[in-house]
Amino acid sequence: MISRLYCPQCRSQTVHEAKDVSHVLHLILSVLTGGLWLPIWLWYGLGGSRVYHCRQCGSEYRSTLSRWTARLIGVAMIAVLLCVLALLIFFISVIASLN
Ligand SMILES: [Zn+2]
Repeated sequence: MISRLYCPQCRSQTVHEAKDVSHVLHLILSVLTGGLWLPIWLWYGLGGSRVYHCRQCGSEYRSTLSRWTARLIGVAMIAVLLCVLALLIFFISVIASLN
């Protein structure tokens, strides 16, 4: 991923490069964990923890999320956890009714 960001070393807007998010890997992890990985995928997908490198001087820049994006991810995490809990309770009640 290529972005124009302010570099404190160069003291100007320069071209920065970051590794692209591996969506296939995140999809596999989300399926394997039954959706628990979704908030982490969302976090990386929105650039919550992305390291950029200035193409001119090579200095590192870590992106930070806005307060609203961080809140959105927090709400998504709680929603996913509640869904997993509801599914667990549902399956336990189905198994209990079979016996
Ligand atoms: Zn620079």
